[in-house]
Amino acid sequence: MSTATDTIPTFEQLGLGPALVEALSALGYEEPTPIQRAALPPLLAGKDLLGIAATGTGKTAAFSLPLLQRLTLGGKREPFSTSALVLVPTRELAMQVAEAIHRYGQKLGVSVLPLYGGQPIGQQLRVLKRGVDVVVATPGRALDHLQRQSLLLDSLHTVVLDEADEMLDMGFAEDLEAILEATPEGHQTALFSATLPPRIASIAERHLHQPVHVRIAKEKVAPGTGPRVRQTAYIVPRAFKAATLGRVLDVEAPTAAIVFCRTRTEVDELTVSLNGRGWRAQALHGGMDQTQRDRVLKQFKTHAVELLIATDVAARGLDIEKLSHVVNYDVPNAPEAYVHRIGRTGRAGREGVAITLAEPREHRLLRNIEKLTGQRIEVATVPTVADLRARRLELVRASLREALVAGELDSYRPVVESLASEFDLVDVATAAVKLLHDAQVEGQEHEEEIPMMPPPSEKPARPGKNARMAERAERFRPGERPAPGAQKGPKRRTGPSQDFDMARIFIGVGRQAGVRPADLVGAIAGEAGVEGRRIGAIDIGDNYSLVEVPESLADQIISALKQATLRGKKVQVRRDRG
Ligand code: AMP
Repeated sequence: MSTATDTIPTFEQLGLGPALVEALSALGYEEPTPIQRAALPPLLAGKDLLGIAATGTGKTAAFSLPLLQRLTLGGKREPFSTSALVLVPTRELAMQVAEAIHRYGQKLGVSVLPLYGGQPIGQQLRVLKRGVDVVVATPGRALDHLQRQSLLLDSLHTVVLDEADEMLDMGFAEDLEAILEATPEGHQTALFSATLPPRIASIAERHLHQPVHVRIAKEKVAPGTGPRVRQTAYIVPRAFKAATLGRVLDVEAPTAAIVFCRTRTEVDELTVSLNGRGWRAQALHGGMDQTQRDRVLKQFKTHAVELLIATDVAARGLDIEKLSHVVNYDVPNAPEAYVHRIGRTGRAGREGVAITLAEPREHRLLRNIEKLTGQRIEVATVPTVADLRARRLELVRASLREALVAGELDSYRPVVESLASEFDLVDVATAAVKLLHDAQVEGQEHEEEIPMMPPPSEKPARPGKNARMAERAERFRPGERPAPGAQKGPKRRTGPSQDFDMARIFIGVGRQAGVRPADLVGAIAGEAGVEGRRIGAIDIGDNYSLVEVPESLADQIISALKQATLRGKKVQVRRDRG
């Protein structure tokens, strides 16, 4: 596992040629992941490989890049022939892997074809007839074409079995055997699987020749030495990640957070999207020079910037502490990287908060992390539009209350009085609330509903041994898409509406010191690790503030705030005695 002091080889040093290195750099990959570091050299050398790795570790690139580098391109293709065959369990994965290979190999002019059940066969035949460099197929459809002789393996030099355990679970064992039997002597075979049950070991034994075994060794974390961090994960489809993060941040109200992304491109896109949502966010990645990095860090340390959006490479070795939150925009590609990242929050006896966004397919990575740390990662439901709206209305209410207490409203009174002769006073006030609310959420009016994912199951459903049935079943795998009624998944609904028993906390600092509702929410979330949405009414006076919090958390919040500073000062904090 890499730590801040290890030197990590570059893609070039691992043996990749300039065209592929350039493609990766354009995609914003800054360094190889552990599985890539281990798998690239043997695969580039033409060896067979058995890799134990889950989705999210970067294994697609680990087998695709060597496969692309070893292709002999530019020659005339025989009709129906292919040089490389990648077998995957599902149609979604076929499309995803084909797309990845296309992106990595674009500069090389590689042709890639995904083949899966449910696609019109005529169209597949037309493309196959021209001959393609790489076919990415589900086993059932690959076997179909082999039997029709519309897929010829005579010039095949690489076979990859991706997610082999899932292919077996889906009933593809016989199809896999038949395909592997049809491959010519002397080709390279790579087998990737998240687990190594005896059936996989047996396939490896029969079809791999002196394979290199790659399994990323896990560092042990001594019990009790892990950071004291509240760890929460949200499972969301990729398309909804940015929206989810925006919403979770709005509710969590972090005061200083790092959001880790996998690529530079992701860093840049997310920085734009979070700034658009009203956050003060700055990017930090390996493409920036030292002056730019120093400037961003200074802004972060002086709180001019609330969120640093960074790659691991950029954040490595940075002297940043006192983070209220660490956010993993993607699950890190090795469990050890997760431990390293979240160690940046929750220091000095304070509870930190680690938030992780995972795609449905990546839930296994979360379990791997839990195994390593011995700590639970709670899977929470994404705040709904209603939750967010309630939170925003709460803030509007607090701002209005603050203005009422502050007084000096005389110059505005004539507006209300003139309208009061025509409309009901409550209606007038309600319209003013609407305007204030709309101004506060400007640019975020169109919050889309984010689909809730069903609780991830460790094993996909077994549709039986019949491979054709399995191909049909692949479109309904659990964990892939929201199922009807999925909203009934385990909920961690908190929200003030459920915290019936509220206590009021007195904080000895108020308007004169420039305290605003968001400061209080931020302090309580940041210092006590209590979500913003659990905080009730906020009342800000000249020299004090009163905040309603759930009774069960009151003591924890009081002792956390006593250790903290608000607007740069230590303040008196106690239960309000009325
Ligand atoms: P996989 O495990 O193959 O599903 O990959 C998970 C994600 O990691 C994909 O979105 C890849 O684009 C991304 N990825 C793979 N390798 C790297 C890398 N070296 N640096 C950054 N992102 C990567």
